[in-house]
Amino acid sequence: MTKEQDTPVFDRIVSLAKRRGFVYQGSEIYGGLGGTWDYGPMGVRLKNNIKNLWWKKFVDDRMDMYGVDAAIIMNPRVWKAVGHVDGFTDPLCECLKCKRRFRTDHLGERAESKKCPECGGELGESRQFNMMFETHVGAVRDSSSIAYLRPETAQGIFVNFKNVVDSFHPKLPFGIAQIGKAFRNEITPRDFLFRTREFEQMEIEYFIRENEWEQYFEVWRKDMREWTKSIGLAQKNIHELEVEGADRAHYSKRTIDFEYSFPFGRKELYGLAYRTDFDLRSHSEASSVDLSYQDVESGERFVPHVIEPSFGLDRTVLAVLLEGYTEDTLGDEIRRYLKLPSYLAPVSVAVFPLLRNKSELVTRAHALHEILRKKNFVTAFDDNGNIGKRYRRQDEIGTPLCITVDFTTLEDDTVTVRDRDSGEQERVKQDELGMYIEERISRV
Ligand code: ATP
Repeated sequence: MTKEQDTPVFDRIVSLAKRRGFVYQGSEIYGGLGGTWDYGPMGVRLKNNIKNLWWKKFVDDRMDMYGVDAAIIMNPRVWKAVGHVDGFTDPLCECLKCKRRFRTDHLGERAESKKCPECGGELGESRQFNMMFETHVGAVRDSSSIAYLRPETAQGIFVNFKNVVDSFHPKLPFGIAQIGKAFRNEITPRDFLFRTREFEQMEIEYFIRENEWEQYFEVWRKDMREWTKSIGLAQKNIHELEVEGADRAHYSKRTIDFEYSFPFGRKELYGLAYRTDFDLRSHSEASSVDLSYQDVESGERFVPHVIEPSFGLDRTVLAVLLEGYTEDTLGDEIRRYLKLPSYLAPVSVAVFPLLRNKSELVTRAHALHEILRKKNFVTAFDDNGNIGKRYRRQDEIGTPLCITVDFTTLEDDTVTVRDRDSGEQERVKQDELGMYIEERISRV
């Protein structure tokens, strides 16, 4: 059997993610389903912490942002209007020998040599493959009932532009934000959470006047960079790529990809695009509903332009896991742990009784655990195995603080608090614990 130490680091992270309940293969007991993953108890907390931080930073803490949560299945005319029914495609080519399918633009030089990267067989001609998942709405299954699972959250925002304007009368510039699922029938899902067929996006459409686009593009570029810092991504791993004309989506006049140095290469983490007035104008024309905006002061009426910062949530979870994964030696053992920003960790504080067979310690530890839980900290209780093993379990899920109730606690009401990264321990008075933890896990 191969020792875990001999496997590539990416495989070790995937294995930790499974072992510690972050991410499981989708429909695993049936052999899985390509391009789908399920979040387990720790993963869903990590993902929610990222979502909540994003929502707080970009929606709740600002006066110019409005949140929506639109339906995943939308009227198919939405996708016709913006060209997705015909154009939401990736180039596909198939091996004539082994029948495997590849994205032509991912094949590099092999696309020119027309050789299958798997079996060396001949590759067929490249053709466009539409990635939208089709379904039928209602009891009749014919072409009139076709609908699509949304391939991006953006259109749920554009179709609600008028609703938000009519309800809140916001002044330009303002943004509408949405977090939600998107679906793409990717030709080759791969690299764990990186390329999946069902994923979550956190998107903003920021409405502006046309002549302001360069200014707000730069503002969002800076804000996106700041965000990568706030989730603990090392700046040496973030690269901004100016996307050239031919590679840009048809609606975009400028796009910057924020790439991350993944173990499988430098790849897109987020995108920032200037979408002009393409979407609002297309929906106005197709629906015959006026989606222009009237400036209350000048009376001027026009269709706003838009800057779109788009963040993939699952790629964020992956980057945060990769960035946090650390190996060091404690004593003479190799320790694997997740050095997550404390405010993103799935568990903030774990409580242990030193010995599980000493009822005074167990009772005190349970009581303390309950007190901390009532203070709204996300807590864990563990009395299984020796303290070293318990520390290691918490380290692997990135718990920043572990508290042990020991015999000294019974004498002077202090507990041992152990720090995940340094392994150092200090004694803290029980009645000062709330403040102590608050300070240690507060947001940047
Ligand atoms: P790629 O070039 O990698 O296919 P894209 O340019 O098509 O990505 P966008 O349409 O700009 O991606 O989507 C915005 C964001 O949604 C991406 O930056 C990424 O974080 C996320 N995303 C897109 N496709 C996927 C996917 N298949 N799996 C996971 N996340 C995705």
